[in-house]
Amino acid sequence: MTADATDPASLLAELTSRDHHRVWAASHAVIRLPAASRLPLVPHLAAIQQATEDLDLGGAFYPNNDHLRQALRAVEAARDGLCACALYPGYLFYNPKKEQESGAVTILSSSPPDWNMTYSCQCRACGAVYDVEQGEYHYTWWDWKPATPT
Ligand SMILES: [Zn+2]
Repeated sequence: MTADATDPASLLAELTSRDHHRVWAASHAVIRLPAASRLPLVPHLAAIQQATEDLDLGGAFYPNNDHLRQALRAVEAARDGLCACALYPGYLFYNPKKEQESGAVTILSSSPPDWNMTYSCQCRACGAVYDVEQGEYHYTWWDWKPATPT
């Protein structure tokens, strides 16, 4: 079994393995999956939560548990039929440019390119608009917030 496996049975085995690296890798795999491919994991949410609730995945500059938490959020969002953009706020690794390349959002505007800059992005699926702040602290992060109506 490889950490790149993305079939539900493999992901479930990885997520409940209690092996730090395997849980971490599987969390990233789940976050990258399209919502429909996460659905087979929904019946196993409780088992995954139980197997991981006291797991400390460490992380030097960023708590690796956040990747696991985001993977669980992603499965919950698939269960609840939420738009994919609902997952952006609260997780710092959605690059607006990559999201645009993948067809998920349209960048409506941005400040001049810099380490620290802002974007305005619109979800192509539901039309929601987000203000995104890009910053740099050992890694580049993006903080997505629902745009305040003007
Ligand atoms: Zn959306």
